[in-house]
Amino acid sequence: YHPDRNPGDEDAESRFKEAAEAYEVLSDDEKRVRYDRHGHAGLRQTPGHDFSRMHVEDIFSMFNDIFGGGGGGGRQRRRPARGYDLETEVELTLEEVIEGCSRDVEFKRLDVCQTCTGSGARPGVEPIRCPTCQGQGQVQQSGLGGMFRMVTACPNCRGRGTIVTEPCADCRGNGRVPVERNLEVRVPAGIADGQVIRVQGEGEPPPPETNPDGSGPRGDLHVVVRVTAHERFEREGDHLLVAVPTAFAQMALGATIEVEGIDGPVTVELPAGSQHGAMFRIRDKGLPDLRSGRRGDLIVIVQLVVPRSLTDDQRELLQEYA
Ligand code: ZN
Repeated sequence: YHPDRNPGDEDAESRFKEAAEAYEVLSDDEKRVRYDRHGHAGLRQTPGHDFSRMHVEDIFSMFNDIFGGGGGGGRQRRRPARGYDLETEVELTLEEVIEGCSRDVEFKRLDVCQTCTGSGARPGVEPIRCPTCQGQGQVQQSGLGGMFRMVTACPNCRGRGTIVTEPCADCRGNGRVPVERNLEVRVPAGIADGQVIRVQGEGEPPPPETNPDGSGPRGDLHVVVRVTAHERFEREGDHLLVAVPTAFAQMALGATIEVEGIDGPVTVELPAGSQHGAMFRIRDKGLPDLRSGRRGDLIVIVQLVVPRSLTDDQRELLQEYA
């Protein structure tokens, strides 16, 4: 599924991104255990990189050492000016969708180590030039028995060109440390399950391999919105559907029934002779549109309920009717 081998093939690209995600899980013991126990859902608790929305080039620079170098074999290794994106999740009730809401999101991201300002070296000890690549940061390798040749990041210094002889104690030489981040995210009214709020500049700083001091723009945080299923209402775009149990007599004779809407009671005039499954539209009692704020409709579906037991009087009257 290498993008260079499958140019313009979106299916190959998405497979490639899945592979990148799988690699990240398998190479992280903690994530791997969680995946084994809880499957894909288990990973949501530890936000990882959002590969599906990342550029292929960024994935390459991230896994430089295993996928074989920037851009997949190009001469020049791509130096991302921007940090990586992160993903996290918030959960909302359907009621909260009406007004929108604010959520505190907590996530962990890699930030520049304050002790070594990202160099990975113990303060006062200068990193030395990498002997493997002579400080170039890249080496030439051949693959598949010499079938192709490519320039990849130096495996010894991981592309930095320098080697830390005495690593910083706080980041163990990585130049980055995981930092808890707390953020208030505004979720707009009318949002739907699966939609993503992009919080610009709340991702990671550019990676240490290219920008040790973390200079350059951060990636973004993608907040995936989950709207929990409601026990009574079903959502169809901005419209809400609700089934209302109704007695035969009310349907046959006509009645005014009160229905609990998503934000307060509404009344529906049932005409005489209403049928099971009949729908009544109540304007502007649905959910707001994400852009215009205009509310959709509440659609009441009449549902015939047959009594399970009858009093003697009721039975007599019903027999007479029958
Ligand atoms: Zn450090």
